[in-house]
Amino acid sequence: MNKKVIGFTTTIPVEVIFASEYRPCDLNNVFITDSNPLRYIERAERDGFPKSMCNWVKGIYGVVMESQIDTVISVIEGDCSNALALLEILRYKGIRVIPFAYPYDRDRKILKKEIRKLMDELSVDVGRLAEVEKEIKLVRTNLGLIDRMTWHDKVVTGHENHIWLVCASDMLGDYKNYKSMTEEFIKGVRSRKKIKGLNIGYIGVPPILLDLYEFCESIGAHVVYNETQRQYAFPQSSKNIVKRYLDYTYPYGIFHRLEDIKKEIERRSIKGLVHYVQAFCHRVLDDVILRDVLDIPVITIEGDIPKKIDARTKLRLEAFIEMLESR
Ligand code: SF4
Repeated sequence: MNKKVIGFTTTIPVEVIFASEYRPCDLNNVFITDSNPLRYIERAERDGFPKSMCNWVKGIYGVVMESQIDTVISVIEGDCSNALALLEILRYKGIRVIPFAYPYDRDRKILKKEIRKLMDELSVDVGRLAEVEKEIKLVRTNLGLIDRMTWHDKVVTGHENHIWLVCASDMLGDYKNYKSMTEEFIKGVRSRKKIKGLNIGYIGVPPILLDLYEFCESIGAHVVYNETQRQYAFPQSSKNIVKRYLDYTYPYGIFHRLEDIKKEIERRSIKGLVHYVQAFCHRVLDDVILRDVLDIPVITIEGDIPKKIDARTKLRLEAFIEMLESR
């Protein structure tokens, strides 16, 4: 039986959707992997979204409007300052919207209640969820291995790492197939030669820029850490769904994220960080704290629309890598 698709605006407890009669679909991934992502932005602007607004939000809206998706889970706390307004617009347009909220203070009881609410909304029982969780754990283990093969074995590129981990948010709608795909990939890269290059890390929301990784690699850098994307994949083992989504750093503010970033800088011998910020995103302010507390160099790169990086950004990145190499 073909399952009906349910869209979502950022990572949510995807195990619940897999245990339901729906197939999960991360709307961000549909937007950015389209052969012409600008058409979604144009659709949003035609419908009245302002130019001076984050293009990820417009992209998500455009995808919903241009597709057959009639149900969307919208994360109204812990993700985006525009989420509530987007939820209301989608509801106004006749889309069924299910709100989900990560409690800012990481309150276990509240998160448990949110997950329970989502289960009730999608008619998921505890037994079925437990079965799915057990199977998905194997996919997460493989993703953890791909991540390790990036920074430890150095046979996976930063871009490949980014793609595998970012797609873990919905596992392309079929976790069993995603598991087979990861196995195939792991088998194929084992015999690769070690990637040379200076270890750098990527922090911030996933980039809207289309060739950031390729460019960094072309100037002698190896991206060995993708902060947010790794969080989507949950390679760390957590004994149950509530603990897993409490350990998830992205929705709980900069200080929780910093613990993970500092630990991984050390573990992966990272020499410098690219902090990606999205134009018109409130998260740009994280830069103020990040620069102050991290003791390795950080370059901040801003993106706006889905396109290749411009000449000025290329020059800045080249100068950054040269500076790291000379240290
Ligand atoms: S980049 Fe920022 S403003 Fe844009 S969707 Fe993500 S959290 Fe929201």
